[in-house]
Amino acid sequence: MDNTSCFHCGDDFGKNQIVFQEKSFCCNGCRTIFEIFSVNELTCYYDLQNSPRAIPKKVEAFNA
Ligand SMILES: [Zn+2]
Repeated sequence: MDNTSCFHCGDDFGKNQIVFQEKSFCCNGCRTIFEIFSVNELTCYYDLQNSPRAIPKKVEAFNA
């Protein structure tokens, strides 16, 4: 992932970069969604998105 893409939606954020917890977002909507995931420990959503075939460790542990 390069440094000009929104961490949440992957859009190029251009001049509207919003930095939150060392991640970059294109808008407050994306930042807020990340914040919600983060607060609820749902950031494994991003693992799913980045590598669709991989089973997130949390899910793996849950099934074991
Ligand atoms: Zn975005």
